[in-house]
Amino acid sequence: MNRNKFIKITGLGGIGIAVLPQLSFSGTQSFSRNQLIGKGNQDLVGDTYTSTMHREASEALTKMKRAAAKANIEIEVVSAYRSFQRQKEIFEGKYDRFTKQGLSPTDAIEKIIEYSTIPGTSRHHWGTDLDLIQANAPRPASVLQAKHFHGNGPFCKFKAWMDEHAAEFGFYETYTDNALRKGFAYEPWHFSYAPVSIPMLQAYKKLDLKQLVLEEKILGAEHFSEAFIERYRANNILDINPKLLS
Ligand SMILES: [Zn+2]
Repeated sequence: MNRNKFIKITGLGGIGIAVLPQLSFSGTQSFSRNQLIGKGNQDLVGDTYTSTMHREASEALTKMKRAAAKANIEIEVVSAYRSFQRQKEIFEGKYDRFTKQGLSPTDAIEKIIEYSTIPGTSRHHWGTDLDLIQANAPRPASVLQAKHFHGNGPFCKFKAWMDEHAAEFGFYETYTDNALRKGFAYEPWHFSYAPVSIPMLQAYKKLDLKQLVLEEKILGAEHFSEAFIERYRANNILDINPKLLS
C-alpha cells in the first residue's frame, strides 16, 4: 500500500510563470496519493457541495466572479470538490443498476464512463475543477447541457465572457469542443484552475490506476482490463485542453 507515499513535483515554477505571468506558485509542490484521489485534502476550504474547493481556486474564483459581475454576469458554482466516497456511490449505483438490467460488467462500465468517472479518477477530487453556469439568466430544467451555452442558450453571455476572460484568472475549459478530442464529451461548464491542477495532473500521472481500483475495491474492478485502463488513461484523463497539460 502506498497510501502515504508523497509524489514530489519540481521545476514547474518556470512553466507557471510562462503561461500565467500574473500568477505565482511554488516551484515545488507535493501531493499525497489520497489527496489525488479525493480522500482528504488539507488545502480545501468551504463547507458545502458548491463551495468546497482548493483554497487557491477559491481565491481566484472570487476575483473572477467580481470581474464578471461588472459585466452583469453572476457566476454560480453548480459542483466543486467531490470526494472519493461520493464518486464511488455514483459509480457503484450505476454499475448495480446496469448489470441488473442485463448488461455485462464490461458493457456496464463502458456505459457509466460516457458520463461519469471511475472513483479516484475525477478532477473534481482535486478541488481545482468547477462546474459553472450563470445565475442571473433563465434557468433550464437541466443546466449542464452544451446547447445552453450556444446559439440563443441562456448561458451564451457567460460562455462568451469566459472565453475572453477566464484565463486571466487561471481557469480553462477542461473538456473542450474539439472534434478530434476523445474521452469525455464537450463540457462548456467545466473549468479547471490551472496553477494547481497542472501540477496535480503531473503527480496523478505517476499513480498506477489498475492498482488503485483494486486497492480501493471498486465494484467491477476485476473487469477492468489492462487495455481498458490504458485507453481510459489516454482518452478520459489525458485527452483534455492542452493548456491544462503543462
Ligand atoms: Zn465537472
